[in-house]
Amino acid sequence: MNRTKDTARFARIADKVRANEALDADDGLFLYTYPDLLAVGALANERREALHGDKTFFNVNFHINPTNVCVADCKFCSFARLEPDAPAAYTMSIDEVKQKLLDRMDQPVTEIHIVNGLHHHLPLDYYKDCLRELKALRPDIHLKAYTAVEIHYFAEKYGMSYTQVLSELKEAGLDSMPGGGAEIFAERARRKLCRGKADADEWLAVHRAAHELGIRTNCTMLYGTVETLEERIDHMLRLRDLQAETGGFQTFIPLAFHADNNSLQKLPPPTGVDNLRTYAVSRLMLHNIAHIKAYWIMIGIKTAQISLSFGVDDLDGTVQEEKIYHMAGAETPQALSRVDLVRLIREAGRVAVERDTLYNERWTDDGEALDGIRIDASLPYSTQGQGVRLNVL
Ligand code: SF4
Repeated sequence: MNRTKDTARFARIADKVRANEALDADDGLFLYTYPDLLAVGALANERREALHGDKTFFNVNFHINPTNVCVADCKFCSFARLEPDAPAAYTMSIDEVKQKLLDRMDQPVTEIHIVNGLHHHLPLDYYKDCLRELKALRPDIHLKAYTAVEIHYFAEKYGMSYTQVLSELKEAGLDSMPGGGAEIFAERARRKLCRGKADADEWLAVHRAAHELGIRTNCTMLYGTVETLEERIDHMLRLRDLQAETGGFQTFIPLAFHADNNSLQKLPPPTGVDNLRTYAVSRLMLHNIAHIKAYWIMIGIKTAQISLSFGVDDLDGTVQEEKIYHMAGAETPQALSRVDLVRLIREAGRVAVERDTLYNERWTDDGEALDGIRIDASLPYSTQGQGVRLNVL
């Protein structure tokens, strides 16, 4: 490696970033292998601060996974059960789905995140009724529901176009879509990981159809399985191309692979360095996507805090009842309170901003109490706020 040549190349990439120019695939690969991780992080941080200053977003949300029964057999998945009567398989009734919200009617929740397995028998009305009944209970709640993989499955199963499926779900209460199911787009890796579910072009076509209907969506990339660095960069570039066409993506969320209880248990998890570098490279490659989110459930609270200096500007939300990654071995808490999140963000030297799903700002940390609770860094986490405490880690 020629250090002088590399330093000059990094400087040229930095100039492109500062001019808000699109980096190419070679630039992305170079950033993934450039030995000075802190320099890559600092450049990503520069871009993050140019876009958002010190603001770090979070929301107050919870998850519902109405069924884990799934016809697919993705190798990295610990959540799904192939048959409805398999051990630990479940499908909630609509009343059980409603109860999840009824249990939280006194909480300041603004969003429900809903994803499922690909159930063999459920009619489309089940998914529409979930949305309708939740909206009937709380008309102001934002429903971020059903991945592109689910939408593709519904379209095939019920003989409808993506636009028809999405229009019916929108009419029933769908407000936006999560970014799951993208995994890694490269066919070589996809064949090994998740043969048989929506492929890259189909995933992208669903999001294109959603954007055309005015439905904002998120996007993700699963990393740390069988993919190469070239395939990670290819994945980011395909997302960037669709964003240039539609502008409908809000947030990119890199998802670190968790190995417990699935067929890829021999694989080591991504390292802390890989996590931080992936956030930084994502921020730099995806110049046209506004937000980069660290899903604290997957990478742990400590790395999530550090990621706020590596290009990340969003820490997801309070979450509550996360199943998919905890079944894959995530050791993080099932939930964080608003007070926990604000303190985490303050400690990282940033300004916490509670947002709604569409990034409208609802509350900004001005150093005062939150929900009547004084956030005092000299006190242990367990004495502050409500929800699962950090000292369970
Ligand atoms: S990742 Fe999704 S589609 Fe694949 S097995 Fe799990 S629930 Fe089913």
